[in-house]
Amino acid sequence: MAALPIALVFGWWLGQRWHSRRSGPSGHGHSSGYARGLNYLLNDQPDRAIDLLVEMVEIDSEAVETHLALGALFRHQGEVERSIRIHQNLIARPSLSRNERAQAMLNLGLDFKQAGINDRAVTQFHKVITHSRELRVIALENLLHIHQHEKDWQQAIEVAQRLTGKQEDYALMICHFHCELVELAIAGRDLRRAAKLMRQASSFGESSPRFLLLQIKLAVVKQKNRVALRWLEKLITLCPEYRLMVLDDFEDCYVAEFGEGAFIQRIIDLAEDTKSSAALVCAIADRVERIEGCDAAIALLLKQRSKFSSILLNTKIIALTGGSESEGGLQAGSVSEVVGDLMAQMMTSANEYRCSQCGFIARQLHWRCPGCGDWQSLQIQEII
Ligand SMILES: [Zn+2]
Repeated sequence: MAALPIALVFGWWLGQRWHSRRSGPSGHGHSSGYARGLNYLLNDQPDRAIDLLVEMVEIDSEAVETHLALGALFRHQGEVERSIRIHQNLIARPSLSRNERAQAMLNLGLDFKQAGINDRAVTQFHKVITHSRELRVIALENLLHIHQHEKDWQQAIEVAQRLTGKQEDYALMICHFHCELVELAIAGRDLRRAAKLMRQASSFGESSPRFLLLQIKLAVVKQKNRVALRWLEKLITLCPEYRLMVLDDFEDCYVAEFGEGAFIQRIIDLAEDTKSSAALVCAIADRVERIEGCDAAIALLLKQRSKFSSILLNTKIIALTGGSESEGGLQAGSVSEVVGDLMAQMMTSANEYRCSQCGFIARQLHWRCPGCGDWQSLQIQEII
């Protein structure tokens, strides 16, 4: 357990106590005790700080702040049962002020949350919300954390909406919560509910990649090619880094509506767009090769070489030309096999994601980072 966060908590309690006792004559002895306790914590001796606080509690059993400081310290040390007992005993006192009671209830909620007893934590945080305006935001933030952990998205939406307008913007988060519910509805084949939830999500993030990807998915499931294409074109324009991800759906819908010739022309235009990545150009070349042949794919790639100084693109050109230039030569065949492997490895890397907040690397896209819990912080790795 790092000493500094505990010391900060303790220092805060010291400040609270100093402030509350400033007008009274009896605080001096306690303040020096707190100062000693803080010193222990800064020197990474939390056990000695706890001993000192226990001693202070025995001397002055009425001192609410001392109990609160001791409870918080026990929790930070992982001794949750003891912190729960302290906070429950405090709450049972009829003499507590409104603010002291709210502080004790908040801390009891934090104890339960740390112990994983989430239903009881939720009850405490709701009590804090009705009891204290000062502690309302911190109680709501803790509720939001629990609802996300438990994947209770409906409750998470309600809490995040109550937090809206406070310290940070919750719109993107609320959009993700709706999208989580949409995915559940699609999985349960409840497409009517999915569409209704999408309408609700639209006011929180109608240009976000996840919202657009879900609109595409919903239209594809309903086999509405024209609708899917409208959303696909919107995603291609607004979120170019997600183009590769939707290329298969784009092909299916476009070919079904307009035929292969029109599709080839559209993806050649897409390859020439400056926002298209080298990995996307290679994936487009695969489709051109399949429909128009190898020479057309090589011509496309050679044209794009002027735009990209890309190992991926050059390797793709060698992979496509390697087999055809040497008539049945064993060596040439081996080379093309090696280059094919190299290409496959690089394309795998092109599908990796990295969290911009904590550096977590994932093989698949997570909308919420498994490392740090941030929403939409995973970004597609660019391959040169
Ligand atoms: Zn992260």
